Amino acid sequence: MGKVLALGQITQETINGWAEKFERRDGGYYCRKCGSRTLRTNCHVSIHLKEFGPLCAGPGKVIKINYPYCPNCDGKIDYAQACFHVGIGEMVPAMIKGGPGP
Ligand SMILES: [Zn+2]
Repeated sequence: MGKVLALGQITQETINGWAEKFERRDGGYYCRKCGSRTLRTNCHVSIHLKEFGPLCAGPGKVIKINYPYCPNCDGKIDYAQACFHVGIGEMVPAMIKGGPGP
């Protein structure tokens, strides 16, 4: 059994930052800290409305995106949970659907 990561509110910058923790070489992704090959799991992202301010409320739509992690530095992760706030009528930005992975 791995753990469930609760990431709280994430932004596009957060998601971009995930990719920066790993480097791509030899057709795979490796941890910049320890050199282990990355694994990936899902991050379940609840879409909330900015109009509700800091309240985490909204249409309740959940999308799944890739969450890359290092099994050595981060341990075994079953999945991650987060939320992403968008304005009414705003599109959910294209997230790293194919992000870093093994
Ligand atoms: Zn590592």
